[in-house]
Amino acid sequence: MTNASLNQILDSACRSIQDQIGSGKVADYIPALARVDIKKFGASILTLDGESASFGDAKEPFSIQSISKVFSLTLVLNQIGDKLWERVHHEPSGNAFNSIVQLEMERGIPRNPFINAGALVLSDILLKDRTPDTSIQTILNFLNEIIGEKRIGIDHEVALSELETAHRNSSLVHFMKSCNNIENTVSDVLNVYCNHCSIAMSCEDLSRSMLFLAKEGFDPISNQRIISPELARRINSIMMLCGHYDASGDFAYRVGLPGKSGVGGGIVAIVPEVGVITVWSPGLNKNGNSLVGTSALEAIAKISNWNIL
Ligand code: GLN
Repeated sequence: MTNASLNQILDSACRSIQDQIGSGKVADYIPALARVDIKKFGASILTLDGESASFGDAKEPFSIQSISKVFSLTLVLNQIGDKLWERVHHEPSGNAFNSIVQLEMERGIPRNPFINAGALVLSDILLKDRTPDTSIQTILNFLNEIIGEKRIGIDHEVALSELETAHRNSSLVHFMKSCNNIENTVSDVLNVYCNHCSIAMSCEDLSRSMLFLAKEGFDPISNQRIISPELARRINSIMMLCGHYDASGDFAYRVGLPGKSGVGGGIVAIVPEVGVITVWSPGLNKNGNSLVGTSALEAIAKISNWNIL
């Protein structure tokens, strides 16, 4: 595909949803996120052969929030492989991302690595033989190495705001610790988790950083293997089934691609063997996924005819 046709796909998809921009509700349970302009909208596509197209605020960094769980999952799978599944399941939860109720019934083993409880276990595993600072640095190094420039960092205002209001996440870690599924201190686990959720990246950065998932774990631009094909397939499957919490079925139905959302309003979708699409629009639906971002991805998937089916 040429850059011109990529631009055409992205342009006509984004124009078709333009009257929706500004709808939804920004995440206000993290005070620093409540201040983001709801009218922002960005989208980017990057293909395996390096062709790209961007729309709107595609270069503006935003809080990636739960999208960061894809990076911590990649690092943890590289660190301990399938042993992860002794501490976290890989089933859709059907519950809100920060739900407590299921965790008690299932004795402290989270349903999957993308709900908060599961990602908190990932942070605990990243802390093995590391301090909170070096764990966070490991994630940033991973991203900066792929991007090839040292410019991805944490939005410290968001991180502080999250840490100060992390009551639910703190309950989840305390409960899992009581079930012996957390090895480090509650505060160290929260520190790593809230900081990686507060990484700031643009749509273009996100598309670049997840290109390896469209090519079975191999990054075709830097010519590096990031993860084995087998583990890359697992990440895509979990994105497909669990990437949008209790709206994962709706996202799969409408978009038909593995994806991961965050309450900052970003969504990344993987098109296997083709490339990556990232959208950003801060207004969320009731499940905490970007309302306009989902519509934009639905339009892009429809116009491009990209799907995994
Ligand atoms: N940091 C957010 C939280 O823990 C992430 C949630 C999300 O993006 N869905 O609540």
